[in-house]
Amino acid sequence: MPVLVMKFGGTSVANLDRIRRAAKRVAVEVAKGYDVIVIVSAMSGKTNELVGWVSETSPFFDAREYDAVVSSGENVTAGLMALTLQEMDIPARSWQGWQVPVQTTSAHAAARIEDIPPANIEAKFAEGMRVAVVAGFQGVSPEGRITTLGRGGSDTTAVAFAAAFEAERCDIYTDVDGVYTTDPRISDKARKLDRIAFEEMLELASLGAKVLQTRSVELAMRYNVRLRVLSSFEEQSDEAGTLVCDEEDVMENRPVSGIAYSRDEAKMTLVSVADRPGIAAAIFGPLSEAGVNVDMIIQNIAEDGRTDMTFSCPVDQVANAKKAMEGAKASGEINYHELIADTDVAKVSAVGIGMRSQSGVAATMFKTLSDEGINIKVIATSEIKISVLIDRKYMELAVQALHDAFELEKAD
Ligand code: ADP
Ligand code: ASP
Ligand code: MG
Repeated sequence: MPVLVMKFGGTSVANLDRIRRAAKRVAVEVAKGYDVIVIVSAMSGKTNELVGWVSETSPFFDAREYDAVVSSGENVTAGLMALTLQEMDIPARSWQGWQVPVQTTSAHAAARIEDIPPANIEAKFAEGMRVAVVAGFQGVSPEGRITTLGRGGSDTTAVAFAAAFEAERCDIYTDVDGVYTTDPRISDKARKLDRIAFEEMLELASLGAKVLQTRSVELAMRYNVRLRVLSSFEEQSDEAGTLVCDEEDVMENRPVSGIAYSRDEAKMTLVSVADRPGIAAAIFGPLSEAGVNVDMIIQNIAEDGRTDMTFSCPVDQVANAKKAMEGAKASGEINYHELIADTDVAKVSAVGIGMRSQSGVAATMFKTLSDEGINIKVIATSEIKISVLIDRKYMELAVQALHDAFELEKAD
């Protein structure tokens, strides 16, 4: 029988009523003749609570134990979803990551899926089971320990299962009815897109649009998974939501197709480091070993052989970054006068494959921000995106102003 993957995010399984509602959606697809693999998140708020408990217990925690704790939210919803389906007379069984097994790397808290052998679940389908409910976000390392895939990781679990089982489609059920031109919670002018190209979705996700985890889009692109985002709160047709697809299949042609933001960024400046060959390696090597995701980097003009080095990273990695830099200073690898952390910044980005062929996007972006009196602290560009770091208090204003400036509320 053809296989369908259906993923339900935190708000879609937030309580027993919602789990029942999601199970009814699953029943519709089972009735159509699909064998369904359901991927569930933890109930909304649960993972945050678990992460909070870990940090409170141990500020520089052992990531193996972090994973042991934070993976548990999904175990609960997987079991409850299987029970709910059984109550509806649908043969269903739950699976934790290690039982499948979802084999991952041992990079705890940010593991990558390496393989999902389908044999165990396929055997159950062959015996008449119609729904395999799998706990999202988790897997097992080569050492046999529980791993997690990074926040939002259930999306990636879903796409990886769709690839492994050659599913007809991977439907991501969430609390909005598709991918919008920007977060509909920030701008009421945000417009739902019927289709979006993989490349654009990849940029939007990696720049903060949390509707899909970045890695899930990468996987969908690589394995050509038909990926759809839709609402678990509305009646659905086969055309509902947003289809993430190849560039050729997208009709719109405009320079910018979406605005993304990332609220919790930090700008770190190492004041007065020696301007010598190897200095960047001496700084960013230890940061990378400490697991700090450095994003933007600027090296200022040198004076008297010394320079300032500025980089941005997620705000929750500031403590790790400081520790890594202090360690490198103590061991004599680098020397600096001071490390200044500006933890009140946000990143706002304009994304569009149309930028490749249309000029003037950067100019419009900077003029728009300047008209609103917003100071730009750092700029980064690539072929299909322009990002700026600004004071966090202006973030929503910047998103709305840019959405207006690029006329994203209007369909082509
Ligand atoms: P889930 O729990 O279902 O995984 P998430 O909270 O991870 O849901 O992702 C859905 C949220 O993503 C939406 O509620 C919305 O606020 C946010 N979001 C950010 N950018 C976008 C966008 N461009 N389109 C749609 N949703 C977006
Ligand atoms: N529950 C996990 C998180 O909140 C994974 C997910 O929901 O995708 O990040
Ligand atoms: Mg999510």
